[in-house]
Amino acid sequence: MHKKKGLSTHHWYIARFIMTGAMAQRRVKAAVIGAGMSGLVAARELRREGHHVVVFEKGNEVGGTWVYDPRIESDPSGLDPAREVIHSSMYKSLRVNLPRPIMGFSDYPFDAKPGVGDDPRPFPGHEAVLRFLQGFAADSGVVELVRFGHEVVRIERAVEGRNDEWVVEWRTRGGEASAEVFEAVVVCNGKFTEPRLAEFPGRSTWRGEQIHSHNYRVPEPYKDKIVVIIGNGPSGIDIAKDVLHAAKEVHLASRETTTFKIHGRLFQHSPIDHAEEDGKIVFQDGSSIYADAIIHCSGYKYHFPFLKTNEIVNVDDNCVAPLYQHVFPPALAPWLSFIAIPYRTITFLLSELQSRWVAKILSGKIQLPSKEDMTSSVQEYYQRIEAVGWPKRHTHRLQLEKFDYENWLVGKLGLPPLEKWRQNMYFTSFDLLTTFDENGRDTWDVEKWMKGEGGGGGSDNINYTLEC
Ligand code: FAD
Repeated sequence: MHKKKGLSTHHWYIARFIMTGAMAQRRVKAAVIGAGMSGLVAARELRREGHHVVVFEKGNEVGGTWVYDPRIESDPSGLDPAREVIHSSMYKSLRVNLPRPIMGFSDYPFDAKPGVGDDPRPFPGHEAVLRFLQGFAADSGVVELVRFGHEVVRIERAVEGRNDEWVVEWRTRGGEASAEVFEAVVVCNGKFTEPRLAEFPGRSTWRGEQIHSHNYRVPEPYKDKIVVIIGNGPSGIDIAKDVLHAAKEVHLASRETTTFKIHGRLFQHSPIDHAEEDGKIVFQDGSSIYADAIIHCSGYKYHFPFLKTNEIVNVDDNCVAPLYQHVFPPALAPWLSFIAIPYRTITFLLSELQSRWVAKILSGKIQLPSKEDMTSSVQEYYQRIEAVGWPKRHTHRLQLEKFDYENWLVGKLGLPPLEKWRQNMYFTSFDLLTTFDENGRDTWDVEKWMKGEGGGGGSDNINYTLEC
């Protein structure tokens, strides 16, 4: 049992409206959950708006998923709810999948910096991203707002029906529990930690080793083995390439076929139909193989084990609902918000835009629609998803929107539309990722491309900035 200290309701924020010229600006006491990329930029934006910010981080450093951890979980398939959870899904050889110009913040670009340990490649290794985020946290001063080693275990309204008083309860490494009341909570706990396994008959009795990509680190354990990889998203393709360095054969099973450069030890298949106890895997097209291992690159689940909203916010079939514009539950807005829920976009840009939007809504500079209008908007969005035949679990996938969502945020913030080159660079990168080109990241001359050469996306407003 943990000792629960008394709740301290700091009433300093009662006088939270300050007058700046003719505009009343609200300053709130906000808790940010997580000091990964999203939490860092959220804290920066909130502080810029004058809010009082505390960032809770369960780990000992900033960077979230970019903090490589060589350990794997006790249950590498991620099914055991009692396993010790390791936050990061990084594998040792990982290089970024978006080039530098679209990984970074508007006023803090992800430039290659000369110096010891620098990785100047346009698609550097994961260590460079961590260094970038550490630099950002230090230079922006956000690192001083972070309470490290504080795992948030409960977020709940202090009083049912009152939305601007949230109890944030945490546990420190030593196991001590404590709590504090905040007016606003911004959830930035990441979405790549809770594995989703592929389902197929015979999965639980199949004799080989099964892991989720969350627990993939290095190819050596697969030396001379026959490995099946499920899923051909960025992780599936990337891990397939990595495993090929050691494995005898790699078999990629997926719903969609990908354009691969021919590779003698790599095979493509339809999804798995079923697995048999003796190690046989039968694919939906009737072909079969005997394999030693399966790596599930089948995605992740949104997971907020600490959030108690009395069923106002739920995760159903990987849809966090209901969320207005993927950020605010209408009934709890603007006091509870989520950053970085959408995917298939330029992640850093998304988190920065959403964070700025949240910060300005909290300060009263931008108004949200009424609860009823937000709810109708959410319902209309769900209907559109259904109309195009997407399953519910794709609710937060932005491809449907083709940057409409980001441009909508940009419009709300009073900024000029996103430049085309950013969007083109993202789509070019995505094509590169989902083809099996071993050297694609090194053969794309990003600098030349930026200048509009080599099939480049043009150089409109290269100096775009989100400064207001
Ligand atoms: P995270 O980085 O996951 O950070 C969440 C933080 O919250 C963590 O520090 C965690 O410890 C903390 N936390 C969680 N729960 C609690 C709690 N209860 N209490 C306190 N703290 C908590 N994006 C790109 O732009 N380019 C890429 O090349 C790229 N490659 C990727 C490769 C992989 C394998 C993965 C998994 C993701 C990749 N991404 C990439 C996306 C990446 O997730 C984002 O770039 C970004 O790091 C997400 O940041 P985040 O802050 O939203 O989440």
